Amino acid sequence: MATQDATTLDVDAIREDFPVLDRTVGGDVTVPGPDEGDDTPLYYLDNAATSHTPRQVVEAMTEYYYEYNANVHRGIHTLSQEASVAYEKAHDRVAEFINAAGREEVVFTKNTTEAFNLVAYTWGLTELEAGENIVTTEMEHHASLVTWQQLCEKQGAEVRYVEIDENGELDMDDLREKVDDDTAMVSAVHVSNTLGTVNPVVEITEIAHEHEALSFIDGAQAVPTRPVDVAAMDADFYAFSGHKMLGPTGIGVLYGKQELLEALPPFLVGGSMIRRVKFEETTWEELPWKFEAGTPPIAEAIGLTAAIDYLEEIGMETVERHETELATYAYDRLNEFDDVEIYGPTDRGGLVSFNLDGVHAHDLSSILDDHGVAVRAGDHCTQPLHDILDVPASTRASFYIYNTKAEIDELVEAVDTARQLFA
Ligand code: PMP
Repeated sequence: MATQDATTLDVDAIREDFPVLDRTVGGDVTVPGPDEGDDTPLYYLDNAATSHTPRQVVEAMTEYYYEYNANVHRGIHTLSQEASVAYEKAHDRVAEFINAAGREEVVFTKNTTEAFNLVAYTWGLTELEAGENIVTTEMEHHASLVTWQQLCEKQGAEVRYVEIDENGELDMDDLREKVDDDTAMVSAVHVSNTLGTVNPVVEITEIAHEHEALSFIDGAQAVPTRPVDVAAMDADFYAFSGHKMLGPTGIGVLYGKQELLEALPPFLVGGSMIRRVKFEETTWEELPWKFEAGTPPIAEAIGLTAAIDYLEEIGMETVERHETELATYAYDRLNEFDDVEIYGPTDRGGLVSFNLDGVHAHDLSSILDDHGVAVRAGDHCTQPLHDILDVPASTRASFYIYNTKAEIDELVEAVDTARQLFA
């Protein structure tokens, strides 16, 4: 593991923990993994889609499979007890990481998307009434936007979208106007996965609470990249995914205030989430198990614990500083081209979405791929936001702890090649 002083990352040492960063690309993509046609170094700038996994995380999961693989909460035998302790402790570790009160407030889901659906299907279907409204924003990811839209349609409620201004920041006056005494939920993304905008989530939650509405903050891009304190934020619900923060796929987190989660009905039912089943009736397990039906993501929870250990060893303030430095550098360098349009404010999280005049994002990304530069092209699951930007798609470069300015130079050089090609 990398050691570093309080302010800068030892990126070279960090990169040694991520074997994939050494691979080359460019050959046959119909079979996974490197092949003889791969001769271009990889510059991985697609971290907002998913981050890479350090050895420490893979090794923690391997250790589970090799040494104490067993189902949890079921057996009295040694392996099952060891697996259960590790699985339960993973909840404690997440709680500590985001400053939740305890494991009762940490529900493991498949991902951020499932966390939103969990709240929609439990709170939404039982509490949201016709005539009420949910206030969300124009910059939401589909995971939240579509969930609230569909819920409101089912319940006869209204969904309201807070506007963004020309800088790509939330219009807080519009938010204040749209939240009223019929608002049941205010839901906003913490860091926009398209614009990079960092939203004032404390203020958003305060406004929700002034109207006795709940708040649900989408932390999918925030938890991996900056310190997050759900207690200080006072959010009622908060969600994020393991795979964007050095962890494995298949695990996400729904944070919820204990008294709210206690009051909700279960989402999925079946094994593991029950206390007592009779033919006539069933009672539920205590939190958080009430929301974790069936065999849970055990290896993934162990991997997520290792990912948190890794990030905490670096320090989340340091991660945030590195992200900001790279995003600012990328913004400034891409801004040198007068035919490149960048979306979102100058103060941003660690990503930059942009378009090259007259060139579709898919064509640009394919040229970048020829240069080994991996970025995301498309609508980034924010189609309504792209409608507002009046483009069908954009190209997004997103950065993480192992990225360097030299990699951003490669991106800029590849964009320049595309400019000349399409000129
Ligand atoms: N919200 C935001 C802001 C995201 O960036 C993403 C992932 N792109 C999601 C939600 C959904 O995450 P997942 O696909 O892991 O459910």
